[in-house]
Amino acid sequence: MKKYTTLLSLFLLTPALLFGQAKKAAKSNDRLDKLKAEAVASVEANKVLAQQINDKLFSFAELGFQEEESFKYLTELLEKEGFTVKKGISGIPSAWIATWGSGKPLIAVGSDIDCIPKASQKPGVAYKDPIVEGAPGHGEGHNSGQALNIVAVLAVKKLMEREKIPGTLMLWPGVAEELVGTKAFYVRDGYFKDVDACIFTHVGNNLGVSWGIMATTVWYRCGSISKGKRLTQRVHPGGGGLHWMRSN
Ligand SMILES: [Zn+2]
Repeated sequence: MKKYTTLLSLFLLTPALLFGQAKKAAKSNDRLDKLKAEAVASVEANKVLAQQINDKLFSFAELGFQEEESFKYLTELLEKEGFTVKKGISGIPSAWIATWGSGKPLIAVGSDIDCIPKASQKPGVAYKDPIVEGAPGHGEGHNSGQALNIVAVLAVKKLMEREKIPGTLMLWPGVAEELVGTKAFYVRDGYFKDVDACIFTHVGNNLGVSWGIMATTVWYRCGSISKGKRLTQRVHPGGGGLHWMRSN
């Protein structure tokens, strides 16, 4: 249980600390504090990779179900880092699930990867300035979540290896999120049935970053979709689209 808590704490705090917004866990101990500090340093050391992932997905700018280059790039990267990648899950060619480690807890970390129509935009420009007028583009930050998740997972993986902390890390993409295309199908096919915690990353409005349950979130439940498991559908008005998560 202690190791379970350690792993969850590391995971929850790594991305948050990256942006300087984490609050100290009330019941932290010296070892945990040290591990958290190491996780933060490890994320910082990987900032070039984080930027590369961010920029790569931005450049690919692929619409839902067409995330072919994003698929290739992310799955190759994760395989190189020792993850086992299951490709084309739920009958969706650009979907995948990458896992590393063994046993419990199983922590899933997800983020969307599709872009939106007619959002072509030059990077780093704060007014509308398309690269190609009318072309698709990342207008909602779906290029940034996997970057955050991957550097966080790599930091945690490194500590788990050294400290021999049991558990499984699972990374997954929200494919065709704008079309509400895949998350419910992952759940239906059982990919989340053994998940102990699912952490989802999405950039905020006005380039803001925060963590926790969004203030604008509307939660409602619909039962019996996945063999007795319940789904929670999260609607975020600012970003559009729907996010599905499993809850018990
Ligand atoms: Zn979104």
